[in-house]
Amino acid sequence: MPIDEVLISSYAGTACAAGRERGMLVALALDVDDLRVCDVFLGRVSRRVPAMGGAFVDIGQRRSGLLMAADAADGRLPSDGETVVVQVLRVAEGDKGPKLTGKLTGKLTEEIPGNFNARLADTTLGDLASVLASGPIPRRLARGPDAIEALLQHADAGGALRSIVVDDPARLVRLRATWPALASRLQPWRGQASLFEAEGVSEAIEAALSPRVPLPGGGKLIIEETAAVVAIDVDLGSEAGSSAKAAALACNQHAAAAIGREVRLRDLAGRIVIDFIPVRRPAERAKILAALQAVLDDGERALKIGGWTRTGLVELTREKRGPSLASRLLGVCPACAGCGRVHAPQQPTDPLLPMSGEQR
Ligand SMILES: [Zn+2]
Repeated sequence: MPIDEVLISSYAGTACAAGRERGMLVALALDVDDLRVCDVFLGRVSRRVPAMGGAFVDIGQRRSGLLMAADAADGRLPSDGETVVVQVLRVAEGDKGPKLTGKLTGKLTEEIPGNFNARLADTTLGDLASVLASGPIPRRLARGPDAIEALLQHADAGGALRSIVVDDPARLVRLRATWPALASRLQPWRGQASLFEAEGVSEAIEAALSPRVPLPGGGKLIIEETAAVVAIDVDLGSEAGSSAKAAALACNQHAAAAIGREVRLRDLAGRIVIDFIPVRRPAERAKILAALQAVLDDGERALKIGGWTRTGLVELTREKRGPSLASRLLGVCPACAGCGRVHAPQQPTDPLLPMSGEQR
């Protein structure tokens, strides 16, 4: 889905870019993280944990990062106190600190700033660490792209981007200077009201924080994020068809398309399970998997469609790079402390028993 328009303003006090395709919100970027995916650090191993096959690395952030042996530069777990060059694979979330890698290769290296990249190409990581060890440790060596720039880059690469509306004059000037290729498409917001309010972006963000997603034919998705998995239920609702089977097919097709959009917009990742309207025929099952692959595989993050489980769920994994939109923007509910339930008021069991209170 190529983005044709980007609107840049602020949301909940944070700079935010909204990518739209034919007026529909399809991508959001919030520049909230002090730590960014692709940031490069010179860190020091604070604690090896051979039992878990990893080491905690102090990178000068609130939480130490975790470097697994498999991600270490030479596949070997570094020693306590050793200096290491690491890149951020995933920012901190909840109780988990950031995830690091010592292998600054492939896509990650392309994304880090050019001069540092060139220096990495000339030297081995071990050499680099000893050269850099003369300065303070830990310290940040290179910054990953900020979320807004990354969204603009992605939108521009899609080939359909025709306008970028910015309400902050200072940011507009900065973007014009740093991205000459976008200059003709950059425009200031001239409206009286706030850009996101006037353009319906705030409303669309609110909708992206709701567990319910209405589907075009009358069905709906219910999306629940839990610690272990993201569970998506497909509800037939009033979806119409020439037969029950046709209605189910249509609903599943609408659902697959919507799941593609919602997963990216809400930044859902890790393990995802989907409960489609039951499908038995192998050809139809295969069609749903193909549809999911097409809508979810953006070539940016590792995606693995696991297939149908024995109980009829679709299971997939998507590379995680940080918290979801909801965990970034929403706090824990004070009434239920995040569990989603409170004690139900006790109902009188016998309707003939007199009720207390003013209602009688
Ligand atoms: Zn609650």
